[in-house]
Amino acid sequence: MGSSHAVSGAAGWLAGCAVLAAAGHPVAVPVIIVGAVVAAGSALVPDCDHPSSSVAHTFGPVSKWACRRIGRMCAVLHARTRTALDVRDLDGHRTLTHTVLFALVTGGLIALGGLLGGLVFAGVVMFATTGLAVRALWPRRKRGALGATLAGVLAAAALLTFAPTGGWWWLGVPVAFGCLAHIGGDMLTNTGVPALFPLMLRGRRWRRLRAPRPLRFGTGGRAEHLVRWLMLAAGGVAAGWLLQVAAQM
Ligand SMILES: [Zn+2]
Repeated sequence: MGSSHAVSGAAGWLAGCAVLAAAGHPVAVPVIIVGAVVAAGSALVPDCDHPSSSVAHTFGPVSKWACRRIGRMCAVLHARTRTALDVRDLDGHRTLTHTVLFALVTGGLIALGGLLGGLVFAGVVMFATTGLAVRALWPRRKRGALGATLAGVLAAAALLTFAPTGGWWWLGVPVAFGCLAHIGGDMLTNTGVPALFPLMLRGRRWRRLRAPRPLRFGTGGRAEHLVRWLMLAAGGVAAGWLLQVAAQM
């Protein structure tokens, strides 16, 4: 499902920029482009709680080790905070990193990092998110980890060469947006996600929320492919329109 998440982040960001432009608040072209890449990569981040996810395979053994550790920590947190009605969770997948709280805190931390760290911090974010997005879009390539790392280095180098040094707090917005897009996407699956943790819902702190049954689909099926293509088309239309607006300015 990694590629669908990446597409949802980028297409959602482009659509959001198009809505803002239509409302009379055009977004600067660098913010549109960098934001779309960062949102695409960030839309993979919530799956950093699973050792077999796209995130785990992006930067070789380093990301695999990190994802395994995060999954274990999430499992411990879940075990210590669940109520008697919450279903037991042994691997920590789809717990803390699949909550609105996680998306907002991560976005907030990235915004703070961008404010204090400037362009260098933005380069690190660009490296990581480009790598994640590239790996998700070409998951079957044998040397995917190497390609993702190289793509990340190139994107970060381009940013460090051409972009201004300050004013990078806004990177927190596409990061939070990407995480929320992932959570929304997982809510369309049958498993659902505990999006509103730690709010208590019907006696459960980790109650999994799902879209209404007619809107749900299994991962990797025809419905997911169709949704991905629809999102790609919507993102393409939004990008084309944004380019037109930028050309007229
Ligand atoms: Zn997920």
